[in-house]
Amino acid sequence: MTTDDNSERLRKSLRHYRGFVFRWQPYKALSPDWNHDHCKGCSARFAERPDEWKDAVHTEGWVTLWPTRGTPEEEQELVKKWREAGKLLVPSPKPGGFQLDWLCPTCFEACRQELGFVIDSEHPQWRKAGL
Ligand SMILES: [Zn+2]
Repeated sequence: MTTDDNSERLRKSLRHYRGFVFRWQPYKALSPDWNHDHCKGCSARFAERPDEWKDAVHTEGWVTLWPTRGTPEEEQELVKKWREAGKLLVPSPKPGGFQLDWLCPTCFEACRQELGFVIDSEHPQWRKAGL
C-alpha cells in the first residue's frame, strides 16, 4: 500500500468535513467524564495529560465543530437504552449544540487542500460553541 493510497482512503473517510472551519488549539477535557478524544482520521489519542495514557498522545491539534442533530432528550433516551442493555454510554459534551471533532497534524495536512479545510480562529462558530 502506497502513501497515496493511504491519503486517498483518509480523504474519503474525512470527506464530510469538506470546507469545515478548523483552528489549532490545545486539547481540553470538556468534562470529567470526557477526558480524551481520538483523531477522526487515524484514531490517535488526544488528552490533556499524556502521562495518564500508555499510547502516544497529542496535547494539541486541529479542532472543528460538528453540528449535532439529536436533541438532549433523544440522547437521554439512548443512554437509557444502553443502560438497560447493561452498557455504559457517556454522551459527548456538546457545547452550543456542537461536538468537537479533532484531527492530528498528519491527517489535517493530508486532507487540507483536497477537502478545502478553512483555518479561521476568529470564526463566529467558536463563540457560538462557547469556546
Ligand atoms: Zn490523525
